[in-house]
Amino acid sequence: MTIKQQSYPLFASSQVPGDLCPIATKMNPMLPGDWRSMKPVVDRAKCVKCAVCWLYCPVQCVVEKAAWFDINLATCKGCGICAKECPQRAISMVAGRAP
Ligand code: SF4
Ligand code: SF4
Repeated sequence: MTIKQQSYPLFASSQVPGDLCPIATKMNPMLPGDWRSMKPVVDRAKCVKCAVCWLYCPVQCVVEKAAWFDINLATCKGCGICAKECPQRAISMVAGRAP
């Protein structure tokens, strides 16, 4: 079997500028809590500690407390999945990003 020659030569990595994609190479200190528009609030009286919110949160910011599950608002992006999935309707999404 013969391998067909490529039509164009491969790029020379030495010619790729070092600052081509600075976002991917520099750490951004901004957290989701700095830009989200909605935040989840857990009603501790309704929470039965089933951990469904913990299971579904895509960024793993649900934290276990002694008697309920709470949200780490620094890393929560406000997507509302936890509120949608909570079987007890113990989570409400409210406007605002402040803890
Ligand atoms: S899903 Fe709802 S009831 Fe279950 S732990 Fe989370 S807040 Fe509590
Ligand atoms: S709103 Fe989204 S990111 Fe925040 S705790 Fe719920 S599932 Fe996680």
